[in-house]
Amino acid sequence: MRVRALRVLRGKILPFSIPSTVDDELNELYQDIILDHHRRPRNRGQLPAPPASFAEGFNPLCGDQLTVFVNVDGDKISDIKFTGQGCAISQSSASLMTQQVKGKTVAEARAAIAAIQELLTGENLPPIAVQESLGDLIALKGVRKFVARVKCATLAWHALDAALAGHGKVSTE
Ligand code: ZN
Repeated sequence: MRVRALRVLRGKILPFSIPSTVDDELNELYQDIILDHHRRPRNRGQLPAPPASFAEGFNPLCGDQLTVFVNVDGDKISDIKFTGQGCAISQSSASLMTQQVKGKTVAEARAAIAAIQELLTGENLPPIAVQESLGDLIALKGVRKFVARVKCATLAWHALDAALAGHGKVSTE
């Protein structure tokens, strides 16, 4: 009797509410953000250089390529664009990056670069306050579990760093 009752209950309830943890829901949300930026990349294109400075990034492990263009006006990033090709993580990370640093100061952009490095490659996650400052970029957090993909996600940030420093080329190797 009990087994039968359980079966009936399962048949009724499971199709409508599959138990999920907060973690599962977060992972789904993160995937949605990454896929959204992959499908509709923000700030894709080129800026005339000069005045823009730019850097090309290459991740030989995955074959990802990115070129990041930045216009710095005083101490502010007045415009930023990127072109390139590669896996969804590399391209959506670049799109998320442009959204995060456009209109920010160079110092704020450098702080974001450091925070992303810590988020993806740090032994421990950055403090909650730093994680919260990352906004949608927190979607990249799940990548830290997949060592082979970390360089896909950090490529755009290495390229931004190089462009701000006036170095034309950067490789994750
Ligand atoms: Zn990749």
